[in-house]
Amino acid sequence: MAAASPQAAMKILIVEDEAKTGDYLKQGLSESGFVVDLARDGVDGLHLALSETYDLAVLDVMLPRLDGWQLLEAMRKAGKDMPVLFLTARDQVSDRVKGLELGADDYLVKPFAFAELLARARTLLRRGKVKEAELLRVADLELDRLRRRVSRGGRRIDLTAKEFALLELLMRRQGEVLPRSLIASQVWDMNFDSDTNVIEVAVRRLRAKVDDDFEPKLIRTVRGMGYVLEVAEPE
Ligand code: CA
Repeated sequence: MAAASPQAAMKILIVEDEAKTGDYLKQGLSESGFVVDLARDGVDGLHLALSETYDLAVLDVMLPRLDGWQLLEAMRKAGKDMPVLFLTARDQVSDRVKGLELGADDYLVKPFAFAELLARARTLLRRGKVKEAELLRVADLELDRLRRRVSRGGRRIDLTAKEFALLELLMRRQGEVLPRSLIASQVWDMNFDSDTNVIEVAVRRLRAKVDDDFEPKLIRTVRGMGYVLEVAEPE
């Protein structure tokens, strides 16, 4: 018998109350080789999300009993950090921003082509795998998630727990501008309206440790938007 065992199939949770769309997605994703669970409302979706382990969740926004936002919030609070793709009929920037602030990873406006959804899902699943990597690296900055160590240019850097969490988030989402509200909710578990000065102070301290004595500078403030960690393009 061949020794090579096939890789375990990726598991996807779909929460969609429109029967036709839900069935169509379930069938399409199953045929594409994924293991798919389908919930028809937010409460059932949350139950599945918390009792099973999924590699990706595809959530409709308007759902009975618990809407997509509430479902996402409850999942994140429970420590479920799989990538989340939102489906919504409302093509509104405010929806998109709200979803991303709550920790959604991508957003698709209905109606969409299945091929588009499949492409987005695959991208998120790849990113999800990278997310689990123990070692995050940007330029000569390294963060070891398992041993909870950070070094730059081989020099050990001591961080507080919050600074570590902040740096981990910035490195995980490298190149993405992260709004203060997202940082607040993911690192401090606070709301957007809370005192965001906390974040500025923490970012300043983190920069002093990670960037001040080194080149290139990696953490950048994007005025009016948030923070990004990236190797800047030469001007
Ligand atoms: Ca719906």
